Order: sequence, then C-alpha cells, then structure tokens
Amino acid sequence: MIANRLDGMEAEFESDNLRLGEATWNTYSGEGVPDLDGAQEQLALLLTGESDRRMLEEWLPKVDPAREPVLFRRLAIWRSCYVSSAVDNVTEIYNLKNRLQRRIAEFEFEFEGRKAPRSELQKIQRNDPDRGRRHRAWLATAPLAAANHDDLRRLIALRNRKSRNLGFRDYVDLVLKLQEIEEGWLRATLDRLAEACRPRYAATLASLADRLGVSHMSPWDISFAIRQGLQLADSYFPSDRALQRLFSTAKALGFEVDSLPIRTLVRDIPFGGYNVAVKIPSDTRFLVNPSEGQAFYTTAFHEYGHSLQAVFTATPWPILKEYEWVMGARTAAYSEGMAEVMAQFARRADWLSSVVGVPDAEIERYECQVLPAQSVIRLFDLLSNSAKLHTFSGGLFHAHGIQERSSLGLQPGSESQKTVRSVGTGAEPTGARVRSDHRQRAPEIPQDFQVHKSR
Ligand SMILES: [Zn+2]
Repeated sequence: MIANRLDGMEAEFESDNLRLGEATWNTYSGEGVPDLDGAQEQLALLLTGESDRRMLEEWLPKVDPAREPVLFRRLAIWRSCYVSSAVDNVTEIYNLKNRLQRRIAEFEFEFEGRKAPRSELQKIQRNDPDRGRRHRAWLATAPLAAANHDDLRRLIALRNRKSRNLGFRDYVDLVLKLQEIEEGWLRATLDRLAEACRPRYAATLASLADRLGVSHMSPWDISFAIRQGLQLADSYFPSDRALQRLFSTAKALGFEVDSLPIRTLVRDIPFGGYNVAVKIPSDTRFLVNPSEGQAFYTTAFHEYGHSLQAVFTATPWPILKEYEWVMGARTAAYSEGMAEVMAQFARRADWLSSVVGVPDAEIERYECQVLPAQSVIRLFDLLSNSAKLHTFSGGLFHAHGIQERSSLGLQPGSESQKTVRSVGTGAEPTGARVRSDHRQRAPEIPQDFQVHKSR
C-alpha cells in the first residue's frame, strides 16, 4: 500500500522534474520556450500537498530501516523535500528566483559602445595586456549586479524568514541540514584548508604582482597574470579538439561514448559549463562556454562527469535519482565530486604527456609550480566569495562555490568590498598584495547560492 502510493507520487515527481529540466535547458540553450514559472508551479503542487505530507509522516516511523532500507530512505528523502518546499516552493520565492535566473541568462552587456557577450568580456580580462581595458571589461559586468541587487536581497531575506519559521537558524542552516552536511565540520575543514594554503597563496600573489610590475593586484589582474606564465600554453589545448579529446579519453576508460544519451552544446552561458540532467538516466545535456586553453578542457571534462553520473544512475526510484530541482533530493557535494573525477584527467601528468604531448620538463614545472598555484588561487577565490556572500546577506548567509560559478555583485562602499583580502577565516594572507577597488561595484552575481541550483 505504502509502496504503491509512493510509486505514483514518484512518477509524478519525475515528470515534474523533467518539465523543469526542459525549461532550464531552454533558458540557457535558447532552443525552446523557457517556462520556468509554469514548471515550478507544477512541482510546487506536488510538494506542498498537505495530505500526502501527513501520510508520509505517519508512514516513516512504521518502516524498519534495517529491514527495508530503500523504502526508509525514499520516505526520508521525501520528508526533506517537503521541508525544502515549504521555502523554495513558495510562489513569491520561486518567482523571484526565476526572474533572477532569466535576467542572468539573458542580460545584454555593453562594452566600448556596443553590445558584447559575457564570454568576450571574460576573454578580455584573461588576455588583454591593456590593464585599463581589462578593468573596463570587469566593470562592464557591473550593470547585471546592479539590476539583480534588490531582487537578490529580497530573495535572501525571504528565504531566511521562511526557514526561521520552520525552526532553522536561517536558509543556510536548512540547506546544509537537508544535504546532511554538518556545518561545524564544513567550516573547520575550510578553515584548515585556508590555513594550510595561505603561505603559498601569499607567495603566488606576490610573484604574480612582480610579474605584472604592479604594487597591488586587482580582480582584473589575476586571470591575466596567471595566463602570463602560471599555466600550460594554450597551443597544447586547441579549442576545436577539446570535445574530441574528451570523448577519446572517456572511450579509453571504457565508456561507450557514441551510444550514451549525452548531448553537448557550446554556447555563451553565464557559467563555464552547465549540465542539465533532463531525464535520468536517459537524457542529459551539457552546455559549455566557448573558452580557450586548459581551463576550457577541464570545464568540458567536469560537465561530462556530471553527464556520466546522470546516465549511469541505476536506481529505479525517481526520488533517489539526484534530480537537482528539489533541495533534499540531491547531494551537490557528491555530484561535484563525480564531475571533478573526470576533470582531473585533464590535469594528470600521464594524460598531459600521452594525449596532449606536453614535454616532461614542462610537466614537472606544471606539477610543482603551476597546478599548486592555480589550486590555491581557486581555493581563495571560492572562500572570498563565501565571505562576500556572508557579508552581503547581513551575516546570515554564506555559500560554497565551485569552479563554474562567478563572483558576487556588491554594494559600493560596503564592507564586503574588501574582497580578496577578507577570505576564509579572516586573517589576511601575509605579504599578499591584493587590493579591491573600494570605489567600484564588483561585477557579477553569485550563481552558486541556490538561485536555481545548489551546485
Ligand atoms: Zn559541477
């Protein structure tokens, strides 16, 4: 009886997730009508049904987790979904979230008196030797932050209020608890990482500043400086061979690449890449932003890792398939781990040697200097985004970031503009010469804080 009813609910859960997956795909691929609000409304109907929720609450204590572990787990996940829905599926909240998502996807930037795609602005920041032009390209993304500012604050405040009504400290507390992540452990782990990496981070920034001949590094200097010597040459990674090399690597690992239901699209999107698992395991699609060099490869490999997780998901129960649209039904940390397993191939010495043909001496320099420097910069970028978010939300919010996501739009003159300095546990890296520009609004909006996904 329980099982039958649950099967029916999960069939509906899957078809609602499919509709939301299609709407999200359409938002970023531009292929069809992105009916995010309609799709979300459908899902909200299922997940805010009071009688089903009460029924589940009654069933759960009657199921013995030792005898029926899968049934117990399904019910427990359903319970989590009902909890998250009491926040995420409130109409006002998801309408705000969808409006932000649409604006981020469709925003038209202007640069030097004409429209410019986001990828071009990023390219200038990475590659243009003219520092002033890099700065202007960085500033050109600020109007998006300004346009999103009020909605973002309202969304954060609403989510916190609703979460407190449910007995959580705030939305962060709810997000972490539903993903079964212990906040104290998470913070301690990040603090330990930051502590261990701080000396190398400081040394890296100092050497990058020397290389550029500047006294202070600004946000528009870092990517450029890294590309002046702290990376393998782009010539090893031609963009038009990225997918071919990705597929041949996956084939060599034993995946039957040609018959897997994974679609790939190269397109200008707000992230480096994004995988949309529309129907698990039979339809997944990934978008990757046109970029260059090794970073383009690692992003494409990362997204393919997400795709592989989706198409090799074997459980028949939709609630356990890790659809990403309902918090509580997906473990973002696990998914990112799966994706990074794939991305790591594009950073491995044996892969760089045999597939790309990087000479041994360069590989040694890459492993001893380049990769550790890139890693600490990435780590502190992530931690600084967390710190910025924490400040932005009045100390009630912080987020975990990952490589695909960009950084936060900030209030001019706010505390949170002490960007690269105020990272992680607070203490500034000794000797680091990084300064944020206190007069300017830092561009971009954080993509990675449950605006529409937890990744
Ligand atoms: Zn990812």
